Amino acid sequence: MIFTNPRGAPELACDNCGCRWVDRIKSACYECGAPISAEAQTEFACALAEFSDRRKAELKAGVQTGLGPNNMPSAP
Ligand SMILES: [Zn+2]
Repeated sequence: MIFTNPRGAPELACDNCGCRWVDRIKSACYECGAPISAEAQTEFACALAEFSDRRKAELKAGVQTGLGPNNMPSAP
């Protein structure tokens, strides 16, 4: 199962209980121990790649996210 967090980034979640606490090393849910399917992992990797492409495109287009170094307060 894949969620999208408020920043638009994908998050991998357990297919069984829906929690987002997934051990990506063991590919299993922390909460219920259900294995994360290879299919879900592939889907997540794709979503992540898509997200980072979109972010890069946004940065190129000059979209300010509010997180960039340009928003640092300038010295008086
Ligand atoms: Zn679970």
